[in-house]
Amino acid sequence: MMKNLFVACSLLLASTVFAQQKDMAAKYASVITPAALKEKLTVIASAGMEGRETATSGQKKAAAYIENYFKKIGLQPGTPNGYQLQYPVYQDSLIAASLSINDNAAEMYQDFTLSPAFLAEGNWHVQDVVFASYGLSDSANNNFDGLNVTNKWVMVIDGTPADIDSTEAAKTYANMRANRMKPSNIRNKNIKGLLIIKRAFPEPAAASLKGAMYMDKKANSVPVIYISLQMAASILQQPLNNFKDLKTVIRGIYPTSFSFNEQKTTLNLNSSNVIGVLPGTDKKNQYVFVTAHYDHLGKKGNTIWYGADDDGSGTTSVLQIATAFAKAAKDGHPPRRTMVFMTVSGEEKGLWGSDYYTDHPLFSLDSTSVDLNIDMVGRIDPGYKGDSLNYVYTIGEDKLSSDLLPISDSINKRYNNMELDRRFNDPKDPNRFYYRSDHFNFAKHGVPVIFYFNGVHADYHQPSDTVDKINFNLMAKRGKLIFYTAWAMANRDNMMKRDIPLK
Ligand SMILES: [Zn+2]
Repeated sequence: MMKNLFVACSLLLASTVFAQQKDMAAKYASVITPAALKEKLTVIASAGMEGRETATSGQKKAAAYIENYFKKIGLQPGTPNGYQLQYPVYQDSLIAASLSINDNAAEMYQDFTLSPAFLAEGNWHVQDVVFASYGLSDSANNNFDGLNVTNKWVMVIDGTPADIDSTEAAKTYANMRANRMKPSNIRNKNIKGLLIIKRAFPEPAAASLKGAMYMDKKANSVPVIYISLQMAASILQQPLNNFKDLKTVIRGIYPTSFSFNEQKTTLNLNSSNVIGVLPGTDKKNQYVFVTAHYDHLGKKGNTIWYGADDDGSGTTSVLQIATAFAKAAKDGHPPRRTMVFMTVSGEEKGLWGSDYYTDHPLFSLDSTSVDLNIDMVGRIDPGYKGDSLNYVYTIGEDKLSSDLLPISDSINKRYNNMELDRRFNDPKDPNRFYYRSDHFNFAKHGVPVIFYFNGVHADYHQPSDTVDKINFNLMAKRGKLIFYTAWAMANRDNMMKRDIPLK
């Protein structure tokens, strides 16, 4: 009797508390308006921000804007040195390069060129080379085309077999080739150098060769040289008259004699993640992250990649969700867990900012309950089959924590009633979106994540990704859903449990 009465009382009490919480959350969600989002995104995706490329002045302007905003709404700085967590970025320029084969000097741009993504430094005298055909590899094995390439110079054919023989599956090979050329893949194979046989020689000579930016210094220690068919013939000591002849070259190790010298200078640049914190109360040593990337693709000449959807929309959503939490805290309703609002850079370069943060965390990753990551929430997937004005793709709720999906669903049902479309959780989905934004670096370290995403569209990674194409009503709906979810996760009794191993 007593027990039942107690249960009935607590149920009554719980539902009253819940109703108050609901009203309270709804009160603060109301600051996430289309107008407020538009006002901020119009600044973030403006020409003045120059496309926000990592380690450029445009990125730094965007960082300053976000920092000032966090300050203005009363968030605390996320690092001991302020709101910006700086991380190093490098960029090489070539000073000189020379290649000679059997003591005959080759001419740069006539016979060989260098990949700007892989400028190295050193002196190499090479006695043998592994010819590995297209150098196709599955990432599981440390080889190219089944050959042992450890500590070897490797020669591969540029492109895919389909370039020569159109009957072969061009797409598969293109994907495998993309995998081959990733700096991490080249580095992980522990090869000494890579020669890529390319058709287009001679090339127009460039006044200077500036390398692509990179974050990992080890990535740029392996020289990557494009060579002409004639150079390949000299190195392999085989007659090769046209590209088709490469098909007849047997894969394997070849004695040779060539020397290569490369000198470069390295610029030390930097970029940052901007972090604003709203301290929690009784669970302040646990954290709920809301993240988005504020960098984009920058500009070339007069062309600017505005990145309004990618990911100005996510950045703006983080600012507005932070506004809602900060307002609640000012009114005496701070979150139980500490809220960490982090906008990162380097995403478009390869998830650098989130990689740096999760390798140098400022708040314990073990005590980080969840990362809600927002990347592209202002547009509509033209291929969307359901109610295109009321959906968002959610990715990752089936991984790491069995808490994510039911909470996400119940919050959505209670407040929003959007279509939460989970098609991209299918492990067979070739887009692999789960691996393609910043939440993945949290997931890698065991932190449960939800990734909010509108899908791709014709303006994706084009200069035409502009503010006028954003649907602010839909963006506000999505922003509110994420706010309610963050609110629930910040205030519930337990952290997201971690009961599903990362595959
Ligand atoms: Zn992007």
